[in-house]
Amino acid sequence: MNFHIPTAMQLTATMTMLIGLALAFAVTGYPRSLQQPMRLWVRGLLIQPFSYALFSVRGAIPDWLSIVVGNVLLIVAFAHLIHALRVYNGRPDRSQWLIGLVGLTILGECTFTYVWPSLTSRVVFISLIIAALSLLGVAALYYRHKRVTRPEHIVATMLIASIVIMMVRVVAAPFAGVDDLTTSSILQGVVFTFASLMPVIATSGFLLMCGERLNEDLTRLATIDPLTGVFNRRTMTELANKEIAASKRHGRALSLLILDIDHFKRINDQFGHEVGDLALCRFVGLVREVMRETDTLARIGGEEFVLILPDTNASAAYTMAERIRKRLDETDFPVSGWPVSLRASIGVGTLGPQINHLESLLRATDHAMYDAKRGGRNRVVAATSQHVAPLENEDSAPQT
Ligand code: GH3
Ligand code: MG
Ligand code: MG
Repeated sequence: MNFHIPTAMQLTATMTMLIGLALAFAVTGYPRSLQQPMRLWVRGLLIQPFSYALFSVRGAIPDWLSIVVGNVLLIVAFAHLIHALRVYNGRPDRSQWLIGLVGLTILGECTFTYVWPSLTSRVVFISLIIAALSLLGVAALYYRHKRVTRPEHIVATMLIASIVIMMVRVVAAPFAGVDDLTTSSILQGVVFTFASLMPVIATSGFLLMCGERLNEDLTRLATIDPLTGVFNRRTMTELANKEIAASKRHGRALSLLILDIDHFKRINDQFGHEVGDLALCRFVGLVREVMRETDTLARIGGEEFVLILPDTNASAAYTMAERIRKRLDETDFPVSGWPVSLRASIGVGTLGPQINHLESLLRATDHAMYDAKRGGRNRVVAATSQHVAPLENEDSAPQT
């Protein structure tokens, strides 16, 4: 196989440098949270070409430069890429391991260059270090509870391939009789073809990972209420319509609660808007303690929430609403050591012959909730057929 290794090295160096520079130019356009891992990745890409440039002129420059500095730079560059993956996934900081591997590389390269000079030992040694780093990278991508995305699988596949190739190299190096790093052989061809593809494919995978993260962030922004972390009105409408369609298809019951915090304005007026915000989060926390995993909570207005209860008939929904009301009633919200009450009026609506789509369900439940307000607040009212028709004056919200 006629594979000119120095040319492959120089091509890899040039390509990696160009990709690194392009990425360095683009990185400032990304959100802050992604900039740190991207910068680490860029640093790795910009350091790596120097190591390949030093390898490619082996023999023409002193050994300490081509061998020791070249290999150390290679490991420093790779360590940056692995660190980038760990930071991206919020894994605990393991930079001390990475620094340790760099230190080990300096020690090993000096030993196998000056104390017991041996190319085979150096190849085996550096392959083991690269395999260890790749393993750390795979761990960064797979050791977590969150869903692993497709781009992460791409990067992980490259790292696993790197581990396999390095281990083959470790086993084969003693028999290959390589007397010069730049000698062409099938194994050398495989190693250096992979080394030139790695920066391109892994960087593409990493950029796709960043794109996926951006998408996740945008989806969260579009679906979640940023203050309380529950769904927003738009998502509630979407999810409720889906649940209603499923309930009709399978002949199952479905109920919905509308919860409006009582006299919420007073909390804002007495303690300020920030305490009001905390109270809203506290309210959500208390409701979450009572609701089931299959229920969906959404904030549809300032201090107004909807709880969708699939597979729940009218009496079970009423019981659930009462439990929430009691939970709120018996728990004070402490502000600077003072107990502040956080209560709610709750309307309960259930799908039925007259209430058979989201609009009528919301309207009837809302009217029931206003009846709870009129009845004195801190109470639960179930919607009846009377609540289905629009009120004569829809805007006639009860006054305190
Ligand atoms: P009622 O018992 O009749 O429901 O009285 P209320 O005071 O709860 O209702 P009202 O509609 O009069 O006031 C709601 C208040 O909620 C007014 C508004 O300033 C406040 N609010 C709405 N959104 C937010 C928010 O995000 N944070 C805070 N702190 N307050 C909010
Ligand atoms: Mg209110
Ligand atoms: Mg309200």
